Amino acid sequence: MPPVPPPDPRPALCGLSPEALTRLLYPLPAFRARQIFKWIAGGALSFDQMTNLPLNLREELARRFLVYSGVMSARLDAPDGTVKIQIRLRDGAKIEAVLLSEETKNDSPEQAEPRTRRYTACLSTQAGCPAGCVFCKTGSLGFLRNLDSAEITGQFLMLRAIAPLISNIVIMGMGEPLLNLEELRRALSVLTNPGGLGISSRRITLSTSGIIGGIRDLADQGPPIRLALSLTTAREDLRQRLMPIGRTNPLPALKEALGYFQQKGGGRLTLEAVLLAGINTRREDAAALIAFAKGLDTVVNLIPWNPIEGMEFEGKALKEPSKQEVAEFTRLLEQGGLKVIRRFRRGRSIRGACGQLGLAALPEEPGKQGLEKAD
Ligand code: SF4
Repeated sequence: MPPVPPPDPRPALCGLSPEALTRLLYPLPAFRARQIFKWIAGGALSFDQMTNLPLNLREELARRFLVYSGVMSARLDAPDGTVKIQIRLRDGAKIEAVLLSEETKNDSPEQAEPRTRRYTACLSTQAGCPAGCVFCKTGSLGFLRNLDSAEITGQFLMLRAIAPLISNIVIMGMGEPLLNLEELRRALSVLTNPGGLGISSRRITLSTSGIIGGIRDLADQGPPIRLALSLTTAREDLRQRLMPIGRTNPLPALKEALGYFQQKGGGRLTLEAVLLAGINTRREDAAALIAFAKGLDTVVNLIPWNPIEGMEFEGKALKEPSKQEVAEFTRLLEQGGLKVIRRFRRGRSIRGACGQLGLAALPEEPGKQGLEKAD
């Protein structure tokens, strides 16, 4: 095996706001930092492409910095339009990000096209995940490290090079985002910056396994994004067995934190339940979920588990629920007054669906800084 080269020590600029860039590049004038920020937000892959910067500055920047922090090392396209990319980071860690697309109807008669496509980027915040949810492939890989702001922002920019009109972001890829909140905040300040990518905070949804301190921190310090809780079940004992992170984040205190988030203007909350056949789809699960949601403004998102070979719970193979099982569970929740939606199963064929990230199904191809054609 050839020796692995040491990671490139140059910092990457794509995860920095104009203010942070100005500080880093001092004594370069602030307008230069803003120019660089605009170029990166506009899709520049190298300093060479930043043609309104003097040549000697471009050369100096290239000596001292990178634009991106990793390379797109593989890409898989599903027939339904979902695209999963694998990114090899500078230390060799691999993460995945997913581009989801769906057709939406235009209600306005002034719109020429009756239908348009809406693109959503699903981003990772950690390499691996420490939460260890038993139904999740990423959780089974263990935890490697937190991603930095450039590594989070870079995923979006690489997906945006595939679909220029991404309007929504879900932070639901690999990792527990609230265990890496500071770097995520930095990345979000870049992604939402009106002088750059300008994604609306209200079009960003963070999904958490239920980190109480992180929910309160987000409520207090923002940014004002939407929140989804991966609840799975509201039966405490079962939840703690399915989601070990629940042992230190018990349901009563979690519910209080969610109430606090809503009081602070957090808007409607999504309660997600990955449905596992015969495990969390019983009458008592429905009753517990209805009780948990009481007093909160919620919508319940039911996600039939996406099969992953070899995954088990307490010695038994996990199975996806039947259509009847899902329908009956939905009926019980609706009868209890809950609004229920079913998540589309996009990306299943390329293992880009919920809980499937981290499967080593991508043949790696060589890449350059930022982007390399990998299809
Ligand atoms: S479901 Fe989310 S929080 Fe749980 S192990 Fe997977 S990535 Fe981590």
